[in-house]
Amino acid sequence: MYDVAIIGGGPAGLTAALYSARYGLKTVFFETVDPVSQLSLAAKIENYPGFEGSGMELLEKMKEQAVKAGAEWKLEKVERVERNGETFTVIAEGGEYEAKAIIVATGGKHKEAGIEGESAFIGRGVSYCATCDGNFFRGKKVIVYGSGKEAIEDAIYLHDIGCEVTIVSRTPSFRAEKALVEEVEKRGIPVHYSTTIRKIIGSGKVEKVVAYNREKKEEFEIEADGIFVAIGMRPATDVVAELGVERDSMGYIKVDKEQRTNVEGVFAAGDCCDNPLKQVVTACGDGAVAAYSAYKYLTS
Ligand SMILES: Cc1cc2nc3c(=O)[nH]c(=O)nc-3n(C[C@H](O)[C@H](O)[C@H](O)COP(=O)(O)OP(=O)(O)OC[C@H]3O[C@@H](n4cnc5c(N)ncnc54)[C@H](O)[C@@H]3O)c2cc1C
Repeated sequence: MYDVAIIGGGPAGLTAALYSARYGLKTVFFETVDPVSQLSLAAKIENYPGFEGSGMELLEKMKEQAVKAGAEWKLEKVERVERNGETFTVIAEGGEYEAKAIIVATGGKHKEAGIEGESAFIGRGVSYCATCDGNFFRGKKVIVYGSGKEAIEDAIYLHDIGCEVTIVSRTPSFRAEKALVEEVEKRGIPVHYSTTIRKIIGSGKVEKVVAYNREKKEEFEIEADGIFVAIGMRPATDVVAELGVERDSMGYIKVDKEQRTNVEGVFAAGDCCDNPLKQVVTACGDGAVAAYSAYKYLTS
């Protein structure tokens, strides 16, 4: 019987594992290769205080520290979690595990746009995170690809830090609040509506895209050093669906300030939650709070 079972071996899960083990709780954490931790995909991290290097390097350090503190690591996909009276059963690929509390830290995956060349240029001009990578594109030409709130916020942010931004929207108008759209207009950011990006071209890194305007039935090129795909994220939260954990319309787990879900004994942390900023530093913060809340739950 574990005190705490943590589903996730990304920054949120590993921080929760570190804190939980240091609270003296018998702790296990699970990770899988599908989805992998998003941090493992980050070529360069420059905004996690005290560290500069690759995402993989940071992730390995975090894992080493959690294991050293006493947390058990299992490379096993968790299929689902069931309530078992006062405790929980974690049903994973390699077997079943009993735990008194659960921390869900399953992250998610950014949606890919399906553009020809998109995956080949990830980290070489294609990005899914303006906050993470915008800094590398100051003074350069970037395209933001999307129509919703996320795309508009990314475009405004990138413009304001000094990028030369063009928005390419697949829909004939934005799907966002009027006030936000007005901010785009105020800044004079050019927008191509009803337009899809068909292909990314470059030798080694992104140089231009081939776009297609569906209304004019016209193909044209846009020069760009970077493309920020901002069409949303898919949180990996199905694993706790049967437990009755409340999620928002996008699938993000609803948590309170102490990372508690609506199900007693179940906590959640990091990018799988309905939090406003999805970064390594915030995932770690969530993980620490979730472990503290689990500790209080188990000892009071
Ligand atoms: C390309 C890229 C670049 C980025 N750059 C930066 C940056 O520069 N700075 C920054 O702060 N942030 C950056 N981010 C964002 C950052 O990586 C995420 O915010 C952070 O990793 C979220 O941590 P997490 O622990 O919540 O989720 P994740 O890191 O996604 O980890 C989720 C974990 O859950 C596991 N898991 C999921 N489902 C299951 C299951 N069913 N069973 C078992 N295990 C499961 C996964 O295997 C993984 O270990 C970047 C993201 C990407 C994709």
